[in-house]
Amino acid sequence: MIFFARTTDMKCPRCGKIITAAAAACRHCGVRIAKPCERITRRMTANGRIAMACGGLLAFLGVVTLMAQAYPVGMLLAVIGITFCVIGRMMS
Ligand SMILES: [Zn+2]
Repeated sequence: MIFFARTTDMKCPRCGKIITAAAAACRHCGVRIAKPCERITRRMTANGRIAMACGGLLAFLGVVTLMAQAYPVGMLLAVIGITFCVIGRMMS
């Protein structure tokens, strides 16, 4: 049996035929293929959203802790939360 599909090859998301990973579009059905860098950017965006959500939650917890008059812990949580939010915003 001959394995003609190289490791750099991938399946077309639409027609399922083997295409080269470097191809900008499928040569069988013509569907546009996302470049690996585009895929990484998209994943970064998703991570950024998660970071923003986590940061928001931490900041909220920080404010709640501040209201409970546990200032050092509340301040720390709020600062970490805001930092996560800023990083997440930069990434997305
Ligand atoms: Zn195709």
